[in-house]
Amino acid sequence: MDEQVGTLAETLVEADGVTVLTGADVGATSGVPTLGGDGSARCDELDPKMFGIDRFETDPAGFWEDGLELDALYDDSADPADAHRALARLEELDVVDAVLTENTDGLHADAGTRRLVELHGDASQSACVECGRSVPTADALDRVRSGESPPHCSEPGCHGHLKPDAVLNGEDLSESAYGAARRMAWESDVLLVVGSSLSVEPVATLPEEAAERGTLVILGEERTEKDHLAEYVVRGDADELLPELVEAMQGRMPRREDRGQAREATRVR
Ligand SMILES: [Zn+2]
Repeated sequence: MDEQVGTLAETLVEADGVTVLTGADVGATSGVPTLGGDGSARCDELDPKMFGIDRFETDPAGFWEDGLELDALYDDSADPADAHRALARLEELDVVDAVLTENTDGLHADAGTRRLVELHGDASQSACVECGRSVPTADALDRVRSGESPPHCSEPGCHGHLKPDAVLNGEDLSESAYGAARRMAWESDVLLVVGSSLSVEPVATLPEEAAERGTLVILGEERTEKDHLAEYVVRGDADELLPELVEAMQGRMPRREDRGQAREATRVR
């Protein structure tokens, strides 16, 4: 076993609660491109201004037509990666209390994570800007492809159009999602950051708060802007290290019935 993983396992066994914050590097092996809140995208050719909130508000038809080129971004057929599955397993083992994610691919939910905050939304769904009625983004894109742009709400009597359920570049996070994320992080004494550059505010504030009142651990391949605040940094690929962590934790946690009631499932975005 990787020595760093052994150290991390010790930290988690002793923790009263563990919240995990994941970023764009989790899911890199799922083939899902990302359009981060800071406009960072894994598909390099993407111009964030084309897909920002300003563009959506001034030119929703153009926004959606250009969105056809981003079909993969809204693809809901991608499978969770090993890191997603490992985090869901760690929740089952009662190691992890909740997952907060900057990703919009819905893959933590697909992998089985039950307490989840999707800070930047879920791009596989779109909602009417007027009444909030939700449809799969794939359906909305089908309508754009057949000439209906922007795609309209199908609620009788509603004249709104659809918007992807992701936080667009230049758009504020939902207060309910950010509030839930802070609450969950407060309930834990360890915040484990996985695969995030921690460069996007206000999410990047969460590790600062965690380091002030508890233990911050950062895991990933790249340096982050908050490494200096971490108790320690685990350098490596989450898709390899997290399954190792699962193995290290099996059988080391008290049985759930000895630790009280299981927490209620919740999904906030
Ligand atoms: Zn509507």
